[in-house]
Amino acid sequence: MSPSAPTLQTMGQQFSRRSWAEPWKIKMVEPLHMISPAARAQALQEAGYNTFLLKSEAVYIDLLTDSGTSAMSDRQWAGMMLGDEAYAGSRNFYHLEAAVQNYYGYNYLVPAHQGRGAEHLLSQVAIQRGQYVPGNMYFTTTRLHQELAGGIFADVIVDEAHDPQSLHPFKGNIDLDKLAALIAREGAANIAYVSLAGTVNMAGGQPVSMANVKALRALTDRHGIKVYLDATRMVENAFFIQERESGYADKSIAAILKEFCSYTDGAWMSAKKDNLVNIGGWLAVNDTALYEELRNLVVVYEGLHTYGGLAGRDMEAIAIGIEECVQDDHVRARIGQVRYLGDLLTTWQIPIVQPIGGHAIFLDARRFYPHLAQIQFPAQTLAAELYLDSGIRAMERGIASAGRDPKTGDHHYPKLELTRLTIPRRVYTQAHMDVVAESVHAVYEAREQTRGLKMTHEPKYLRFFQARFARE
Ligand SMILES: *Cc1c(COP(=O)(O)O)cnc(C)c1O
Repeated sequence: MSPSAPTLQTMGQQFSRRSWAEPWKIKMVEPLHMISPAARAQALQEAGYNTFLLKSEAVYIDLLTDSGTSAMSDRQWAGMMLGDEAYAGSRNFYHLEAAVQNYYGYNYLVPAHQGRGAEHLLSQVAIQRGQYVPGNMYFTTTRLHQELAGGIFADVIVDEAHDPQSLHPFKGNIDLDKLAALIAREGAANIAYVSLAGTVNMAGGQPVSMANVKALRALTDRHGIKVYLDATRMVENAFFIQERESGYADKSIAAILKEFCSYTDGAWMSAKKDNLVNIGGWLAVNDTALYEELRNLVVVYEGLHTYGGLAGRDMEAIAIGIEECVQDDHVRARIGQVRYLGDLLTTWQIPIVQPIGGHAIFLDARRFYPHLAQIQFPAQTLAAELYLDSGIRAMERGIASAGRDPKTGDHHYPKLELTRLTIPRRVYTQAHMDVVAESVHAVYEAREQTRGLKMTHEPKYLRFFQARFARE
């Protein structure tokens, strides 16, 4: 029987598909080149098999990070020309302060040169030596600043976060029982604050639910404990709440963001992520006395409290970026692109962290290279192999990033051994995502012949940035 010709009605069904698209068009381009396989092999060897040590010119598609790699809009570039470079009281500071108050809802703003500058200030002021700092997993620079201030990190994230195959919709949630047990054991006075991160980077970009932050607020209020938020990717977290949590489907990203922040006492920010700029950060709090202390300390480490290490033009770009990053169509396209890549890899049965997170695809290097022990750096190896295959730059998030226990000096052996393909905002097209997926596929096909790495140089702090490796 020959298939019947499509009628208008069946065509209507066939063509009912509706895609998302970027809510922008391209006005300026930057050429990309892929260097030869021999040149890539040499570049990787010179970089000690660490993708952080590659020269950017040797990279084709750069998925090292979404930090500071966003494309700014024409409005942001126009804002750069309106920089008021006064040492004190720049008008751009007041624009930024108003944007943070408006969209994040905190009273007081302290600008910083980037997120870690803000983390440093908050850690120094809010942690007393020997106090615990419970958090939903950790972030590299956050934990280090907390430890340098004498804090003891305690992981209170839900167990599902450590399982790359768990489909829990909010794997970033705090396990309130774990937190309550810590408070019972150590006493509320020995908890500096709860360090809560939106879309937990190290767990694969996994969100925290509104219900969880509300319950966290209730628990910490009973004990008089503060909650400070790592708001770096909180806009992406708001998207997942809108999509997955009942009662939020009709609320805007901006409204969800503001409600979430209202359950916390303050936040620090790497504006290089959600806020769509190439450099910058900020710290915002509600408490007047705490603000006084932070404002005093910022002049020691960053700059006067109305610029905090930033040029006036940078603050203007952040202020405009804040407005742009909370637009629903922006966030939908941003996460839509990440999912497009993740869906391709999932269809091809390549092991990645599920559910797909907000800013990156995390390849599960343990399942990719089951024949490699963790001390053979499977995730670092996978990043190296991807670069050799196609000049694509990824990053390790496994044993090298986890560093060593400051007390025992042993390696941390994290459950998650991941290679991160991080998608810059508003930079690459869907065709670039196809090229990336196809390269991952090729590396996967060759997985059984792949040998691991050994570390040949280990820096003392945040070793993953500058460590060197060699083939085993
Ligand atoms: C990037 C990042 C930071 C640190 O910010 P920088 O701007 O790189 O100093 C802190 N927390 C999270 C979750 C981050 O992703």
